[in-house]
Amino acid sequence: MRVRFGPGVAGDLVAEVDDLTLGSLLVVCTPGHRELAERLSEPLRHRRAGLLDGARMHVPQEDADRARAEAQRLGADGLLAVGGGSAIGLAKAVALTTGLPVVAVPTTYAGSEMTSIWGISDGTTKRTGRDRRVLPVSVLYDPALTLSLPVEVSVTSGMNALAHAAEALYAPDRSPVVSLMADDGIRRLVRALPRIVSAPTDLGARTSALYGAWLCGACLGATTMSLHHRLCHALGGVSSLPHAATHTVVLPHVLALNLPAVPDVASRLEQALGGPGSAGAQLYELAALLGAPSSLRSLGMPETDLTTVVDQVLSAPYANPRPVSRLDLVDLLARAWSGAPPR
Ligand code: NAD
Repeated sequence: MRVRFGPGVAGDLVAEVDDLTLGSLLVVCTPGHRELAERLSEPLRHRRAGLLDGARMHVPQEDADRARAEAQRLGADGLLAVGGGSAIGLAKAVALTTGLPVVAVPTTYAGSEMTSIWGISDGTTKRTGRDRRVLPVSVLYDPALTLSLPVEVSVTSGMNALAHAAEALYAPDRSPVVSLMADDGIRRLVRALPRIVSAPTDLGARTSALYGAWLCGACLGATTMSLHHRLCHALGGVSSLPHAATHTVVLPHVLALNLPAVPDVASRLEQALGGPGSAGAQLYELAALLGAPSSLRSLGMPETDLTTVVDQVLSAPYANPRPVSRLDLVDLLARAWSGAPPR
């Protein structure tokens, strides 16, 4: 994978596509991003086979089928994803079955562009997996493109990135280098997010946040995630909750449960977050300070879905630094649902 980073690097797109010798690109984005995707790919218009602007969160199976058929119909030899995890997720779904290379221009902090993880949803379940074919061959991180990211989305997307780094620190396959990336990613984001809230078009803060998101995404790509990601995955599937906001609400509670089992990670995380108190409490307070949602109830989750989520999480094994009982999960989710502070 080649990564270019810095304000204005989106202008290198033609050179990048030239280097990859791609002749016919299918561009994918979310509906709100059509104009940006058109503008960015305009210098490539003779190689733009088509533009799909219907990317949605969690890649519904029918979207994946439609995009795959479109790529085949147009004879595309590459995919250009412009946007956040939804656009990149749709491009990955096409790459999974076609092997077409993905060029990503990320505009949120979700980090999908750094991973070989794909996800496709069907009804209330989402299948995910890892496959090298979906890892983008080229990523252009241009902080200037994130200036328009609404403050609320910036905050929750930033918290989503923090979750990758936090769980990488206690992952069973963590390594010293990944932990360094996690530390720095967390530091950058927790310092940049308050600046973004007070000045959303501060390019310095945006650059720092996107750099932090890159690091956190790389942590996600390099390690096995634990209870937090498992829970958010189930919540997204069962209750169709917004991805980044769900991560924001759940993370402090999972850290409060897990970190006592790994004291070295707990102190490392506290240091990276930079404030006094446990990591769970610091993140809960940070989210409140940044105006982020603090309860699953406020995201629209019916209380009656909680049991289904618990059952789903318990139904298959997953990595975690400590064993988790049904009672632990019920208590954790009850707090996250009501917005109570972490234990
Ligand atoms: P998203 O891509 O749905 O973007 C959220 C909203 O913000 C959209 O409406 C989008 O149009 C808008 N937007 C994005 N960038 C913008 C910008 N710069 N300016 C203005 N508006 C902008 O949300 P997301 O949180 O980035 O991605 C969530 C999806 O990504 C989920 O489906 C999740 O499962 C997936 N994901 C996958 C991985 C992976 O490794 N496979 C990692 C993280 C997230």
